[in-house]
Amino acid sequence: MSTTARARADRVSPVECDQCGYDYAALRRDQLTTALSSEVDALIDELAAAQQTDVRPSPDVWSAHEYACHVRDVLDVQDGRIRLTQVEDVPAFEPMGREERVAGYCDVDPHGLPGQIRENADRLIRTLEGLDPGGWERTGIYNYPEPAERTVAWIVTHTIHEVVHHRRDIAAVGRGEVPG
Ligand SMILES: [Zn+2]
Repeated sequence: MSTTARARADRVSPVECDQCGYDYAALRRDQLTTALSSEVDALIDELAAAQQTDVRPSPDVWSAHEYACHVRDVLDVQDGRIRLTQVEDVPAFEPMGREERVAGYCDVDPHGLPGQIRENADRLIRTLEGLDPGGWERTGIYNYPEPAERTVAWIVTHTIHEVVHHRRDIAAVGRGEVPG
């Protein structure tokens, strides 16, 4: 495969994240639920270890608190999307309004946040535990990295990437650094 063709294929279905190294092919379907749970715990630990949670290292980079609120919301939105795939054929998912939500994150109590993240993760995990094998293969139109029909298994794989990637962001901004 030429470099150009390879780059194009990667854009359609990212195999590895350039920044955090997350590999979309590393986890089997029967490993996804456990991996999601442990990565959420690791993110909550990282948030607890952050030296500063409410400071942006640069005006256009989120604080650790904002990244953590984003992950909390991602877990909730993905649960809704996966439930939708079970009752509709190939639904087109609404964008989550990533940027629009940030303004409200200053009102989120930091002490309650870890519990809210865990609660949303547990709700998503209960949804996944209720799926039969066919349920994991149901699909919807996902907008990232570009509109494509994605299976529930891919959505969960991508959700774990969100958690892993933003744990790395929280680690950096928690030290006052801009994530690389
Ligand atoms: Zn990443």
